[in-house]
Parts: sequence; C-alpha cells; structure tokens
Amino acid sequence: WLQLATPLNFLGFAYREIKQGITDIETMFELLDKDAEVKDRAGAQPLEVREGRVTFENVVFSYDPDRPILQGLSFDVPAGRTVAIVGPSGAGKSTISRLLFRFYDVNGGRVLIDGQDVREVTQKSLRAAIGMVPQDTVLFNDTIRYNIRYGRWDATDAEVEEAARLAQIDTFIRRMPKGYETEVGERGLKLSGGEKQRVAIARTILKGPPVLVLDEATSALDSYTEMEIQAALERISENRTTLVIAHRLSTVVNADEIIVLDKGVIVERGNHEELLAQGGVYAGMWNRQREADEAREKLQRTQDDA
Ligand code: ATP
Repeated sequence: WLQLATPLNFLGFAYREIKQGITDIETMFELLDKDAEVKDRAGAQPLEVREGRVTFENVVFSYDPDRPILQGLSFDVPAGRTVAIVGPSGAGKSTISRLLFRFYDVNGGRVLIDGQDVREVTQKSLRAAIGMVPQDTVLFNDTIRYNIRYGRWDATDAEVEEAARLAQIDTFIRRMPKGYETEVGERGLKLSGGEKQRVAIARTILKGPPVLVLDEATSALDSYTEMEIQAALERISENRTTLVIAHRLSTVVNADEIIVLDKGVIVERGNHEELLAQGGVYAGMWNRQREADEAREKLQRTQDDA
C-alpha cells in the first residue's frame, strides 16, 4: 500500500494547495517538483542555528549536465552581515538562493549554515531558518490578515498588525472599509507589485528568521515606493545574516560585500566604493543603471507636466 499511498499523498497535497488558491501555478509545480527531487537523508538532524553564518564552499552546479551554471563558487556571509550578488541576467544569481534552500543539491562543493552541510539537516528545519522576500509574492485568496499571518501561524492579531506597520503597509490596509479583513488575491483586491512586496516583508518580520534572502524585484518600482521598501528591508536585515540577490543595484550600496557574478564565476568582489573605484564590470553596470534611471525619471517629469 506504500506504493499507492505516495501518489495519494501527493494528490492530497496538490488538492489542498489548489483549494487554498495559490495564484501562481508555476510556483505550485515548482514546489511539487522540488520536493520530489531532494529528500532528507536517513537520520537527518535538525539544523542548529548558532549565529547564522552562511558559507558557499567551491560550489559547482548545473541544471543540465552539459550546461554548467556555477563553476566553483566560494563566499561567506558572516553572521549578521549582508552580502549582495549582482551580475547580468542569467549569471546564476537566483540559483544561489535555490541551493541555499536546497531546492537542488550541488554537484560539487558544499553549502553550509554554521558549519552544517544543508544536505545533512532536515529540510523542514532548514526552511524554517531562512526567510525569503521573493521577487513576486504569492497571495492566497483570503484576507490580508491571513496573508500576513502566513509568516507565522501562531502570531496574534496585534503581532500581525505590528509587522504590517513595520513593513509600512498598515496605513494602506486601515484605509480600506474592511481593513485587515479585506479579501485579496484573484477574487479579491489586487495588490500592486510594491504592496505585495510589503506583504512579503511583513510575513518575514513575523517569521523572524536568522537568515534572510532578499530576491530583489526585477521590475522597476517608482522611486518613492522603492525608497520606502528599501527602508523596510534595511530594518529587517539589520543584525541578520542577509543574502541579497540583486537584479537591480539600488539595494546593494550598503552591503558589506558585493559579489559580481558572470557566467557562474566571481569576476569582482568588494564594497560599493571599492568596486566603483576599480572601474570594472560593477562600475559599468552602476553607470548604465544610473543613466537608465535618470532617463526614466525625466520621462516621468515630462508626463507629469503635460
Ligand atoms: P536574472 O537576473 O535574469 O533573474 P539570474 O542570474 O538570477 O538571472 P538564474 O535564475 O540563476 O539567473 O539562472 C541561471 C541560468 O540557469 C539561466 O541561464 C537559466 O536559463 C538557467 N536555469 C534556471 N533555472 C533552470 C531550471 N529549472 N532548469 C534549467 N535551467 C535553468
């Protein structure tokens, strides 16, 4: 009956997820798919987080054997510090966060949290230790309160509201007639990219994980929203080990270390000032983004004037 039970469990899981109304079908398949790929080792122990140091040690990885993605990547995020990964599209930045979560196993090298190989610990404990503010947040077809509480189910109403306040979405919620009981998602109120991101930040504040991964939005938010979100993110990453996957460069300026990745290898590393002074790949990316941002703002101003 074991053989039969597995597909039934799988269906049960899928059914529950659909019923809960995951709005992002791709995410659902990704979850199902990943769970099948990576399993707990026999006798796996829970991860013991002591200070929250993250280490990539000579990591080699590819999705397909004939196309290497990461080719011997080493870096360290000391406890409480922030490291940002930047680089061109397709360089392998998001892959790094997937390996930290152990959605895939490395082909060579090791990924460690406080010296423990992520393959040796239970996935449940690993994922409980890492908080993720993703590029695109999945909302459930339920109330905004439910969507924030998703970060920690036993949080009180007061804690949910405090997290919303810290994520700067509380005022927005209170302005609606039904406040925290407003239905969101496909059949309810649609939230903008920036609002969704704030829900994700509030969830993460509730979860209070020792390790944080910020997968910065690719799409440009307006500069005011971006500044506000930036401030909220900086607050939650303070004194918390943080890995920033930066598709744009605005969040990396204050990082303790910036790693420039290209085709799966580190081509430059240092802090913002050091890399600008170096006048290499990072400086080039920074200048191009500056120009693009200025052009965008100029266009916005002419539109506002018209
Ligand atoms: P971006 O800034 O555009 O998001 P990135 O640096 O985060 O890019 P990754 O998402 O890490 O890039 O992808 C690195 C490479 O791996 C890409 O060339 C991509 O096509 C490939 N890739 C990503 N996910 C998969 C997958 N599930 N199967 C096969 N190849 C994949």
